[in-house]
Amino acid sequence: MAQPEIHQFPCLKDNYGVLVHDPDRNVTLSIDAPDADAVGHALAERGWRLTHILATHHHADHTAGIPALKAETQCKIIGPKAEAARIPGLDLVIAEPDALMLGGLAIAVIDTPGHTIGHVAYWIPEAKVAFVGDTLFAMGCGRVLEGTAEMMWASLEKLARLPPDTAIYCGHEYTVSNGKFGVTIEPENTRLAERLAEAEAARAAGQPTLPTRIDLELETNVFLRADREDVRAHVGLPVAPTWKVFANLRERKNRF
Ligand code: ZN
Ligand code: FE
Repeated sequence: MAQPEIHQFPCLKDNYGVLVHDPDRNVTLSIDAPDADAVGHALAERGWRLTHILATHHHADHTAGIPALKAETQCKIIGPKAEAARIPGLDLVIAEPDALMLGGLAIAVIDTPGHTIGHVAYWIPEAKVAFVGDTLFAMGCGRVLEGTAEMMWASLEKLARLPPDTAIYCGHEYTVSNGKFGVTIEPENTRLAERLAEAEAARAAGQPTLPTRIDLELETNVFLRADREDVRAHVGLPVAPTWKVFANLRERKNRF
């Protein structure tokens, strides 16, 4: 398999759009479609023709661009079975353990419910890259809006078990806010403090802080570190099931 070319670009207020291009087969995927104009502009810039949109979940800031892009390009729309009624124009519904072969790209579907009930992530093992929507963020995670905290924790654990060198593309630029919260939970984690400073510098320079990587998240994302003794001690839950520690952290972040 040729390695895909990946183009990430900001859209809407703090979303990212991502295009994945297989140069050998002339296949181009858009991961979500926050905004048809921004996606269209990114495609035109590269001279790529859109063939598929892969939706992670039904929220408008991930799907609003679908109808216009589909009308313009006749691309195929792929999205989670459990949200089929809430995503416009779906041509194919998927769920774990489905695998997609689009051009030369072998893509595994991972169910990651919690933020929404049918949220999915898309993983291209050969390219060492995963697109996780609003489940995992750099130093953070999505809000638990439709599922339970236990469900969200299980989803995050699945992503945490991807190979450590997997690049992670996320739906939003929330890194600085996540890092500021993280250092209140793990004040002794020097890697986390360093990373927050790096993220602040990147944002001040107008640069994205994404993609991230699984190994970096394991070191600096307090949500993925809910099972650590010091994190448990910090929230006063030394022996609770890990998902309850996670739930406590998520509540704190909501109020942060
Ligand atoms: Zn969302
Ligand atoms: Fe979102």
